[in-house]
Amino acid sequence: MQSRGWVLVEGGKPLQSRTMELAAPSSGEVIVEVDACGLCHTDLGYADGSVAPRHALPLVLGHEIVGKVVQAGAGAETWMGRSVIVPAVLPCGDCAFCRAGRGNACPKQKMPGNDCDGGFASFCLVPARPLVAIDDAPAHIDRRELGVVADAVSTAYQALKRADVREGDVVFVVGAGGVGGYAVQIARALGAHAVAIDLDAGKLDAISRHGAERTIVSRDRAPKDVRKEAHGIAQEWRVPSLRWRALECSGHPDGQTLAFALLAQGSTLVQVGYTPTPVTVRMSNVMAFDATIHGSWGCPPELYADVLRLIYAGKVVLTPFVEHAPMSRVVESLDAMAHHKLTKRLVLDPRS
Ligand SMILES: [Zn+2]
Ligand SMILES: [Zn+2]
Repeated sequence: MQSRGWVLVEGGKPLQSRTMELAAPSSGEVIVEVDACGLCHTDLGYADGSVAPRHALPLVLGHEIVGKVVQAGAGAETWMGRSVIVPAVLPCGDCAFCRAGRGNACPKQKMPGNDCDGGFASFCLVPARPLVAIDDAPAHIDRRELGVVADAVSTAYQALKRADVREGDVVFVVGAGGVGGYAVQIARALGAHAVAIDLDAGKLDAISRHGAERTIVSRDRAPKDVRKEAHGIAQEWRVPSLRWRALECSGHPDGQTLAFALLAQGSTLVQVGYTPTPVTVRMSNVMAFDATIHGSWGCPPELYADVLRLIYAGKVVLTPFVEHAPMSRVVESLDAMAHHKLTKRLVLDPRS
């Protein structure tokens, strides 16, 4: 089968459009006809050469894939014709991590557009087992937008689960962009309070209409100053610091420094964003506060059903944060992202 893909040939050079021959699916694999693929900041890292994908180049990027199964290998026949999300983290399903419900940490996991060709293409070849069916999506849901569930939304959900967020908790979300914005919405859907913290007042304004009860603009402010304001809000709500959770979603060294500063007696911090830059923090605070720090990477496919339930019920909304664009404009779109000109998640359509 022929597929048209947008290929990274060399970091720092524009993606190239190429026609490729896809192998027939082997046992347990399927070919998905891509309806849409979200454009993530991680793609920009690969494209501009600042991060090397694990697979050798050339490589088709894209890991927020939604589409329809059009060919199935042996054992995967039941997937034929189904609409699916391809999770950004594809666990092996068999190892000790997967059996313990920690498939997102599976050492044998594959990520489309990183370990294998991804979704900036008309078709992609993927393992069937981790796929998530969306045939039952209600009519008011634009299925192309569900591509963002593969990373941005499910990553936020997994991070909140990792933090054991429950009703009545206070969640401080540092960085209210892609993942952070969904973390705010999901925290509220789980019955927690949400405080969104960001450099950008515009982003905070958008998320205050979708769940953030309070917002803090952190630009040009010392971490201890922001800490005082954030802790003051949680105290107003009379929630003990034992039930405060900070999620670092900015992926910026200043955001990480701030999130660490938000730790308090018995509280929890989850690191979600990525930056290659190290930060200096006083780790002894974790001891003194009897605090907890977790990392959170992706989301195991078995949690997607919970995420979709929230979206289908309208408790988490995608449309205000998503913009549709043709895949043929992926080079320009990456450029716009590099210049901070995108305010919404782009969902790219390979048919246009
Ligand atoms: Zn991503
Ligand atoms: Zn595994």
